[in-house]
Amino acid sequence: MRLTLLGTGNVQGCPVYGCKCSACLRSQQDARYSRHLCSALLEHDGKKVLLDANHPQLQQLFPAGTIDAILLTHYHMDHVQALFDLRWGVAPSIPVYQPNDPQGCDDLFKHPGLLQFQPANQANIPFQLVGVEVMPLTLQHSKTTLGYCFNSPQGSIAYLTDTQGIPAESWDYLLEKKPDFIVIDCNNSPLQRPKNHNNLQDVLTLAERLPNTCWVLTHISHELDCYLLEYPHCLRDNMVIGHDGLQINL
Ligand SMILES: [Zn+2]
Ligand SMILES: [Zn+2]
Ligand SMILES: [Zn+2]
Repeated sequence: MRLTLLGTGNVQGCPVYGCKCSACLRSQQDARYSRHLCSALLEHDGKKVLLDANHPQLQQLFPAGTIDAILLTHYHMDHVQALFDLRWGVAPSIPVYQPNDPQGCDDLFKHPGLLQFQPANQANIPFQLVGVEVMPLTLQHSKTTLGYCFNSPQGSIAYLTDTQGIPAESWDYLLEKKPDFIVIDCNNSPLQRPKNHNNLQDVLTLAERLPNTCWVLTHISHELDCYLLEYPHCLRDNMVIGHDGLQINL
């Protein structure tokens, strides 16, 4: 099982249009520091599952017939915007697994094109996808949102974005499962208190409670990147800063 982070930026991405902060200037000079919108790719047994669909080069990266399924965290535009192009493709249909959000996003349900929206995933009821056990976990966000824990005989990887904190029933599962990796929403620096996302202090506190798990930060804002440039030693030993292209192999 392999998880590749396709994008690790928050809703603004990095560089932010017109911004001259140190993080945005760095990413203009060296593309390795730029961040696409937050999404990922799960691969197992030669199959590919997209976690959210927002990459600007999605169609080039994944030619017709190469996406086995799409698993959505929630219907905010920055997580689903590539669905609007994909749906009108001339290609095999793609099953889309989703949280229970009857509104969805704009007219996707009315005009799904080749997207085959599946019944809503139920939190805490596992299902099989491309040979991997997927456990949907409730998250705390401004729209109905699910995180997912991917379990294989080799270990577990949880993908938890967008969220502020982790609801008790999801924590109970994670404390028992003790995933090898948790990719976690870390939108802001400790200087900012967002309502619907974690800041770095939140993630430091979470990471302390599962010390043998590697916590990978994602959904990162340019403000947090500036903070990390200023305080490069502020993370715990079991935390790493996510970057576009980062691969987790189990
Ligand atoms: Zn900036
Ligand atoms: Zn969101
Ligand atoms: Zn988001």
